[in-house]
Amino acid sequence: MTDHSNGHSPLLQPSRPEVRLKAKAVSRGIAIGRAVCLFGNDRQYYRIDIPEKKVESELRRFRAAVRLSGRQLKKLIGADNHKHSATGVEIFETHKMILEDSAFISKIENTIQERLTNAEWAVKLVTDEYVSRFKELDDEHFRDRFVDLEDVSQRITNALGGGHRVKVRLDDDAIIVAKELRPSTLVELYEGAPAGLITEHGGWTSHSFILAREVNIPAVTGLKKILRRLDTGDRVIVDGFAGQVILNPSDETVREYRHEAKRTRPIEIPTDARSSQPLKTLDGREITIRANADLPTVYRRSTQFGVKGIGLFRSEFLFNRFGGFPTEKQQYEAYRRLAAVVGDDGVKIRTFDIGAGQLVDRNDDRERNPALGLRAVRLSLAYPKQLRVQFRAILRAAHNCSVDIVIPMVSSVAEIRDVKAILEHERDRLERSGIECGDPGLGAMIEVPAAVLIADNILAETDFVCLGTNDLIQYLLAVDRDNETVANWYRTLHPAVLKAIGIVVEAAESANKPAILCGEMAASPFYVPVLVGLGVRELSMNVNAIPGVRRLIAGIAYEEAVGLVETISTFRTTLDVENTVRKTIVEKWAHLYPPEFLDIRRH
Ligand code: PEP
Ligand code: MG
Repeated sequence: MTDHSNGHSPLLQPSRPEVRLKAKAVSRGIAIGRAVCLFGNDRQYYRIDIPEKKVESELRRFRAAVRLSGRQLKKLIGADNHKHSATGVEIFETHKMILEDSAFISKIENTIQERLTNAEWAVKLVTDEYVSRFKELDDEHFRDRFVDLEDVSQRITNALGGGHRVKVRLDDDAIIVAKELRPSTLVELYEGAPAGLITEHGGWTSHSFILAREVNIPAVTGLKKILRRLDTGDRVIVDGFAGQVILNPSDETVREYRHEAKRTRPIEIPTDARSSQPLKTLDGREITIRANADLPTVYRRSTQFGVKGIGLFRSEFLFNRFGGFPTEKQQYEAYRRLAAVVGDDGVKIRTFDIGAGQLVDRNDDRERNPALGLRAVRLSLAYPKQLRVQFRAILRAAHNCSVDIVIPMVSSVAEIRDVKAILEHERDRLERSGIECGDPGLGAMIEVPAAVLIADNILAETDFVCLGTNDLIQYLLAVDRDNETVANWYRTLHPAVLKAIGIVVEAAESANKPAILCGEMAASPFYVPVLVGLGVRELSMNVNAIPGVRRLIAGIAYEEAVGLVETISTFRTTLDVENTVRKTIVEKWAHLYPPEFLDIRRH
């Protein structure tokens, strides 16, 4: 959290007044630094200054991206003619011509060289310049060509991040500012370890913020038109405790916040959270805690809290890290590393939970409603090649290791059967080639209302279920979990949500199989007593939340939690439920909560 000038001498800038903006805190902590603004929707652009000695390697990176884009276009024009109409082929021919336009390409190269900037930013600058010229043309046909140009530039930018890991060189005080932050961008930026995040949109359960909490990056959201209010290089403070952003902070404010950051930085681990003993409520009901972890290093941090393995590994983390589907070898190695770290407690690997929109070359086929579209298990079954690769990697990694498979977004028993058939087929193939396999258990995510209603049937076909409340709330209440403007409708304690969880827990008890609640709800001390009272026995959560939740569970009685649930189950409105939960916490369990928690928070 250094605070160097990053080439922007305050002496050269007219001093601007300090501005405090109210925001929604989505990852705790304080960051003091300089803004790095991201632009673009599909792939996000950012400007970073590069030193002169790095120009050559940046040019090489750009040329490689142009070559990769060229190969993609050739493939689209050639091999698959039957799939695209003649017009489709014509469009890709046009794109290829643009890509081969030496004036366009050298202009980007010159921009990298002269402005000492990264390739992504140079592509954006030059494209913007061309687009504004196109838009001024009288001829309608030519005027509309800017769409093709933007498409090509998007492809190059995709290629700049595709196929291999990109090391983004961020200053260590970089605070990323974006309209919305895609998880793939954050994974990429994470390599450069940003100090903080500010966005316009995104909810508490947005994947980028889940990841931010996992790796301890302070973040706030809900700031309308924030990109118009600051520029890359501006001094800014993110307060992920109070939910505040301070633009152009005075020296005095910076000093105050530095002090505050020092005071709050280390995660306090209460001694009673360090236990490796089984975790029990005051009246002896055992609750298992697992970690939602994407990295072995993150999981290692949690072992001191008596955590029982990884309850959710979101394998799309690898997709984001490798800029596309990782190979069988890459996956096998990643799974094996995780399995080695977790040992007998095991890791539950969720198959890729991505949407069609995240696949390169499907950009032309945009879905109107991606959350209801071809994603997760649907995408895997529609294009099973990648699922086969993933299953082979998991089956091999499971040899002599405790590894399970979780299928995302299941809405029918038929999907489970189809997935099982593919899994068995891959096992046969591996075994016939003499490759040793393990015997992973199979679980389903329960995150679609239909899956709740047939939870008993799903449990009959699986070894366990995982309650994905992030999506379950989204689909039950028809509220986009990533859309800040409808955040007030995303109500975790809605009576329908409580009923749905109750149905699944009961079905799991009857089937005598585990139901692991792995949505963000599990990580919030506000909801934990409710979950315990609903009968949930296994929670899987962000590693940083574990000490607090452990301490809380050890300090409450199961019977008291059941009493709370009995009361709130009779209520008809979410507000009544929320108020009663809050009141009970204050009256009965205040000593188990950090003081800042009791000032009327939702989560
Ligand atoms: C969920 O939906 O609750 C879940 C755990 O999965 P994700 O957040 O990755 O959608
Ligand atoms: Mg989900």
